[in-house]
Amino acid sequence: MQNYIIVPYRDRAEHWAKFVEHYTRLLPDAIIIRVEQGNDKLFNRGWLLNVGAHIAMHKPGSKYFTFHDVDMLISEDEHSARLFYNYPPIAPTHLATKCSQFDYTMPYANYFGGVTQFNEEDFILINGFSNSYAGWGCEDDDLYNRVVKAGLRINRYQVRYKSLAHAPNNAHANYKNNLDLLKHGTKDGLTTLAYKELDSFKAGNVWCYKVREQICDDLISGIQPNDYTLNNKV
Ligand code: UDP
Ligand code: MN
Repeated sequence: MQNYIIVPYRDRAEHWAKFVEHYTRLLPDAIIIRVEQGNDKLFNRGWLLNVGAHIAMHKPGSKYFTFHDVDMLISEDEHSARLFYNYPPIAPTHLATKCSQFDYTMPYANYFGGVTQFNEEDFILINGFSNSYAGWGCEDDDLYNRVVKAGLRINRYQVRYKSLAHAPNNAHANYKNNLDLLKHGTKDGLTTLAYKELDSFKAGNVWCYKVREQICDDLISGIQPNDYTLNNKV
C-alpha cells in the first residue's frame, strides 16, 4: 500500500533539503508530497495537509497518509524507522511522541502534532483537518477532537525525532481566534476544501505543489465541490 508523506511548507529551504535527504534514503518507496503555501497570508498547516491528501486521493491504488512537519527527522535506527513508516495504520496514529524540542516527552497528554498517520477511510470519516486555523496553533488539537468524536482510538508509538532548529514561530497573531475555534468545534474540512494550484513539479518520488486560496475568479475555471466517498476511488 502506498505511503504518501505530506509536508506543509513555506520558506524552510534548509529543513527541506535535510528532510528529502533523510527520508528518500530511509523510505525510497514512499511518495513525498510537499504542499507549499503560495501567498503571504498566515500559514495554514491544516489546509495544506488537506490539499496534499486530496491530491493523493486522486491517484490510483490503495494508500495511507503520513502528515509530516518538515523539521522532524526520525532518529531511530533504520530498521525500526522503516517499521514505523512502512505499515498502513489500522487507526489514527501518532508518531512524533518523543521530539527533541519537547525534551523527548509529550508536551501534553493529548498532543497529536508533528507526525501523524491515517488510513484513507478514517481520514474521510473525520472530514480531514479543519481549513480554518490560520497562524500557529490548535489545528492539531482540533484533529484530535475529530478523531475522538468519531469514536476512533489513537495508536501512539514511542518514536524519537530530532526537531530541527528554527526561529520561534511568530505567527501567533491569530492564536486567540484559534483557541475559540477549538473550543466551539469545527465541521469544515475535505468537503469544503478549495485551493488553486499555482505550480507543480515532480522529481522521482518527491512531488512539489504550490497552492493558494481559491478566489472568486477561479470558480470560472470550474473547481468543483468535493465529494469524498470511498466509492469514487479509482
Ligand atoms: N511551516 C513552514 N513554514 C512556516 C511555518 C510552518 O513550512 O513558516 C510548516 C513546517 O512543516 C513546520 C510545520 O509547518 O515544521 C509546523 O510549524 P512550526 O515548525 O513553526 O511549529 P512549531 O515547531 O512551533 O510547533
Ligand atoms: Mn517546528
